[in-house]
Amino acid sequence: MNAVIKPCPPTISAVIPAHNESYGIETAIKQIAQILTSCVSDWEIIVIDDGSSDETYQKVCALANADSRIKGIMLSRNFGKESAMLAGLGHATGEAVITLDADLQHPPGFIPEMVAKWQSGADIVHAVKRDRSQDSMGQKAAAYCINHLISELGGINVKNSSDFKLLNRTVVDIIVQQLPEKQRFFRGLTSWIGYTEDYIYFDVAERHRGESKWSFWSLLELSITALISFSSHPLRIVTFLGAMTLILGFSVAADAIWSLINHQTVSGYTTIIICLLLIGSFIMISLGIIGEYIAKIYDEVKGRPHYLIKSKVGIG
Ligand code: UDP
Ligand code: MG
Repeated sequence: MNAVIKPCPPTISAVIPAHNESYGIETAIKQIAQILTSCVSDWEIIVIDDGSSDETYQKVCALANADSRIKGIMLSRNFGKESAMLAGLGHATGEAVITLDADLQHPPGFIPEMVAKWQSGADIVHAVKRDRSQDSMGQKAAAYCINHLISELGGINVKNSSDFKLLNRTVVDIIVQQLPEKQRFFRGLTSWIGYTEDYIYFDVAERHRGESKWSFWSLLELSITALISFSSHPLRIVTFLGAMTLILGFSVAADAIWSLINHQTVSGYTTIIICLLLIGSFIMISLGIIGEYIAKIYDEVKGRPHYLIKSKVGIG
């Protein structure tokens, strides 16, 4: 009987989500491969083409056909970076996995430092943004507000964190097998897990080519997902608004009683309009907050897969 020989897993897997990155993907893969070769004996690079409409996947296929350590996964459509990263983590076989962007904004030059921290015992190495000079003032302010809000309300530290991380095999298995939630926020999940964490600090590099895929609305969506996934505190705003309306009601009632006692005409029209508008808007805001949670629950119970794979290259 022929014994089945399992291939030895590589030391490091690099997982790169890519959406319309055909301009720079070859340079990025070559640069990352060169750095991996300099610090470990065995590695693999998995590029997840997240529904690109350009030549990204074709370029990955060409490199994969020339080097078996380079692999590609093509998703059936654009599922978003979170799903693309999950697909990569699910297929990575390395003892440790490094997630990084395809536009070289996560400088691959830091990989040896991350690997060294992992080899000295860290289960998760977070690359923390030291400098956000590539972001506009608006982006900096928005990132500051939302990261601090999530950190304070959710009890996890995502301040200045990025998706540039090294995760050891145990952590990767936990993320893939034990955290099945549909609403994913990778940065938050990796902080939530615990284990032994270590940090490196990097300056965000300039985008290699092309432009950011995140619009204002997609960032807002990710921020709401992150907040809702990690905290139920926003629901308390509903209670708070209810309490405010109650106080308002009592004040108006007290004023009316006072006016009656003093035989004055109760001032009516303006007060009623103000109260109606206030109560109306409080109810709408409350419904909106509750609605966000219900929408997320609905997405979870539908149980659809995180992503669908159309094609693979270099993966058995
Ligand atoms: N990306 C992706 N799917 C998307 C949007 C982005 O896989 O729907 C990838 C993109 O190709 C890049 C990484 O996620 O490798 C970060 O995207 P981008 O550079 O546009 O974001 P930013 O640097 O502005 O945060
Ligand atoms: Mg980028």
